[in-house]
Amino acid sequence: MPAKRKSPSPAESLVRPLVRRLHGYVPGEQPKVRGLIKLNTNENPAPPSPKVLRAIQKAADDRLRLYPDPTAQPLREAIADLHGCKASNVIVGNGSDELLALATRCFVEPKHSGHHSPRQVAKQTIQYFTPSYSLYPILAAIHGSRINEVKLPSDFSLPDHAALQAGNWNFNAALTYVTTPNAPSGRGYHTRDLAKFCEAQKGVTILDEAYVDFADEDALRLAKRYPHVIISRTFSKAYSLCFQRVGYFIGHPILIAALDRIRDSYNTNGLGQAAALATLSDLGYYRKQFERIIALRDSTTRELTALGFDVLPSQTNFIFAKPRGITAGEWFIELRNRNILTRWFDKSGIRDRLRITIGTEKEMERFLTATRAILRNAE
Ligand SMILES: *Cc1c(COP(=O)(O)O)cnc(C)c1O
Repeated sequence: MPAKRKSPSPAESLVRPLVRRLHGYVPGEQPKVRGLIKLNTNENPAPPSPKVLRAIQKAADDRLRLYPDPTAQPLREAIADLHGCKASNVIVGNGSDELLALATRCFVEPKHSGHHSPRQVAKQTIQYFTPSYSLYPILAAIHGSRINEVKLPSDFSLPDHAALQAGNWNFNAALTYVTTPNAPSGRGYHTRDLAKFCEAQKGVTILDEAYVDFADEDALRLAKRYPHVIISRTFSKAYSLCFQRVGYFIGHPILIAALDRIRDSYNTNGLGQAAALATLSDLGYYRKQFERIIALRDSTTRELTALGFDVLPSQTNFIFAKPRGITAGEWFIELRNRNILTRWFDKSGIRDRLRITIGTEKEMERFLTATRAILRNAE
């Protein structure tokens, strides 16, 4: 006999059963502790460029009373210029998270009860690798679609066609998300491998390039070549604009127009549009920072490796490191006791590692000093 479900309270019964059962996304902690070294949410440690700060301040005037540009036209044109495409290939959103959610509603059928053909099942399926961005399962659950989660190999590399065929990969899934470079592993994927991967997919394939500015390669040309491929980018992490919430998709005009039909009319706030536009006019400032962060990422990797830690080669602004002599959980807590916050995912396959965002030179120095002290204490 199945256990009897507790009947919902009168207020609970007003909420859709699917929503009653949902667990929301758990963001990284944002504690307000003085002197805290925050290496847990992959934010850029440097402020936005002075030009961007001025643009935001200048826009904060009488215009706040008015609705912003509903289509973010100047921003979409500037993005199109940057990537050598047309404004009709670009949609802007309240962070790329909003666009990732729109994609579920636009391209995937919610799961219906009853018997289904494989074709119908595929139309109701959202698919992604684990580990990757932990928002994808939440978006699929909110939409009520089927989920096909496929485990990455232990080195977090992109499985080739034969490996996908041998596993339970669904080449017909309505929507597939790929975090590239991968998070939380930091692994980069070659565009030629992603091209082969995309060619085999029948449904919409979103390449989530949130960290691509720290990588050797990007896959933008795949969005221009294949009508079912969308590239997702964000101003949040690399461009120090998390607070402003601006992200965008590049894709086929038909897919972009479909997404455009279901978004809120004023989905991208006015100050965010102004900030993103100013960012694109000052890319030199950011490129210098990317070089600094990459150099610091590589030197931090060398230092940890010298301690005997296993650090995966990273193509992002964070590293994913397995300690030696202590567990990742102990390392996390001991760093935390020293006011250094990193991210530990207590999940199968990755609980032996910490994800560490690359901060400033000083912060990384303190992180390494703390790590050496923790190791000495553990001996
Ligand atoms: C942070 C992050 C995003 C979300 O970025 P926003 O534009 O701030 O919503 C998307 N994908 C990945 C993989 C991320 O890490």
